[in-house]
Amino acid sequence: MLKDPSLDGRFGEFGGRFVPETLVPACQELEAAFRDAWADPAFREELDDLLRDYAGRPSILTECHNLGKQLGIRLLLKREDLNHTGSHKINSVLGQVLLAKRMGKKRIVAETGAGQHGVASATAAALLGLSCKVYMGEIDVQRQALNVFRMKLLGAEVVPAVSGSRTLKDAVNEAMRDWVATVEDTYYAIGSVMGPHPYPWMVRTFQSVIGQEASEQCHSLLDGKDPDVVVAAVGGGSNAIGIFSGFVDTKARLIGVEPAGGAAVGKGMPGVVHGMRSYLMQDEHGQVEEAQSISAGLDYPGVGPEHSYLASIGRAEYPCVNDAEVISAFQVMSRSEGIIPALECAHPMAWIIREAPKMQGQTILMNLSGRGDKDVAQMMEILDGQV
Ligand SMILES: *Cc1c(COP(=O)(O)O)cnc(C)c1O
Repeated sequence: MLKDPSLDGRFGEFGGRFVPETLVPACQELEAAFRDAWADPAFREELDDLLRDYAGRPSILTECHNLGKQLGIRLLLKREDLNHTGSHKINSVLGQVLLAKRMGKKRIVAETGAGQHGVASATAAALLGLSCKVYMGEIDVQRQALNVFRMKLLGAEVVPAVSGSRTLKDAVNEAMRDWVATVEDTYYAIGSVMGPHPYPWMVRTFQSVIGQEASEQCHSLLDGKDPDVVVAAVGGGSNAIGIFSGFVDTKARLIGVEPAGGAAVGKGMPGVVHGMRSYLMQDEHGQVEEAQSISAGLDYPGVGPEHSYLASIGRAEYPCVNDAEVISAFQVMSRSEGIIPALECAHPMAWIIREAPKMQGQTILMNLSGRGDKDVAQMMEILDGQV
């Protein structure tokens, strides 16, 4: 099992709670409420019921016979793409919105980049009867018109963040600002394993269902053995930590793949952003740099603090892949297996294709964190209709 953070929310030297004084009591209230809920069998049962009957869990494990043969490896996919709303995000959002309700909150605020977490939050809020406001960078609002419309259909209000670079990191700032002013009746649903304590730990706990299921599924498929390598995409790091949690005690290599233009662990330096200390892309003056990649869902300049910790102790590795490798992997996977992946998970796929010659005969488990429907229009443009 992954270790719990220290009482002040640290994973080694990372994490913590770097927030304005007005938010300290809110974080403390949330931490107490989460500890209480997680220890309560009734809460766990309600969440399990929702995950099963609404989100569609357990997600299946698919062996890729075609690609595996081509690459000389055994390739298994954990199918988070088959969840309701199309990715792993629903796992954490159902837990958080259920917790918000238990805390007596009436309103959800959330940030979103490409719109996937916004859609998941709006979905859970609609289901559980809370109002929902989603902050989204103005540039992303223009780029992701379809997801904006989806959130509105689901009854959420979408507010463009007009400060700074008008992308994800500004949306996080504005959602936090909203929360500071409305904390009495409002719950802030964070989209990844980031932010001040207890968020990285809480979101990891909700996402660990991926790793638990995958561990059992691998044992039954592999005669009690574990895979040699477990690999996932890393934006903030929630789907990766979710699947890692099932294998951290095994001998499996744990690989989190970042985009070359957003390699927080690979190229960043420790710094403080959004309430946490973690690896962060920053310039020589300590200013946060913009992440830049083909996949809007991975365009986050930081990374969850537990990944920084796992990197610092050498338990997990964080290589990166470039956009050209990702575009190629996206097509390879579609053609070889009949599965169109989200662009985010074309990143771990690209890493597997590149590294396969060094992993001959090994069993590789990849977390397929989401489906590619949302990326098809963008790929059509990139490939100019030529496939
Ligand atoms: C949001 C998203 C990611 C990146 O977020 P993590 O917190 O790093 O998991 C990856 N894949 C998909 C499909 C997503 O929607």
